[in-house]
Amino acid sequence: MTSPSQTGTSDGSPERLAAIHDRINLAAAAAGRAPGDISLIAVSKTFDAEAIVPVLEAGQRVFGENRVKESAFKWPGLRARYSGVELHLIGPLQTNKVKEALALFDVIQTLDRERLVNALVRERDAGTRLPRLFIQVNIGEEEQKAGVLPVEADAFITRCRDGLGLEIEGLMCIPPVDEDPAPHFRRLGEIARRNGLHKLSMGMSGDFEIAVAQGATHVRVGSAIFGHR
Ligand SMILES: *Cc1c(COP(=O)(O)O)cnc(C)c1O
Repeated sequence: MTSPSQTGTSDGSPERLAAIHDRINLAAAAAGRAPGDISLIAVSKTFDAEAIVPVLEAGQRVFGENRVKESAFKWPGLRARYSGVELHLIGPLQTNKVKEALALFDVIQTLDRERLVNALVRERDAGTRLPRLFIQVNIGEEEQKAGVLPVEADAFITRCRDGLGLEIEGLMCIPPVDEDPAPHFRRLGEIARRNGLHKLSMGMSGDFEIAVAQGATHVRVGSAIFGHR
């Protein structure tokens, strides 16, 4: 099976998956946290179904994808073969793809604007059960990056919860690539805490241990499991 966007060069490796679990457990122990409080999201974007199978066979069930179309191509077939899959959307969601996204994802991590939130509310009011929801914060205030700005986060969270009755589970961020991520992770934690949110999706292949030290409850690891994209 091939997909137009496939560029992955290797299969997901059970050994690499196990090594990531070991590193999460060590980072958790070092931070005085319980390893079970941290969920590993295996980011399988750009890798085709056959590359994902070994990771499913190794017992991994939580996966992240960044594109709706690609996920629609890969995951219904994989879900038919493996039960208990939990799929997270970690890439931007266009409002015209909301319906399709709701049919595919168990968690949407990228709520980042009023228009998208309104589209979700319309679906909910029409009777569709919404997935679990995270708000993406543009923690480094980067022009090219999605997410609500830190200064707007409190108001956006309040609007979603109190104004629209959405249940918000936590916050997600992608810090600037060329900066120390720790202060950014810490800042996301502060925004979550002062808003009574308990879940933090932060940390990728290059910095997930730092994220665990700063309170991540979900780390999103792609290339360290699946190889280079
Ligand atoms: C691709 C991606 C990841 C995984 O990145 P790696 O560096 O391959 O671990 C995590 N989060 C988001 C939002 C991504 O798009």
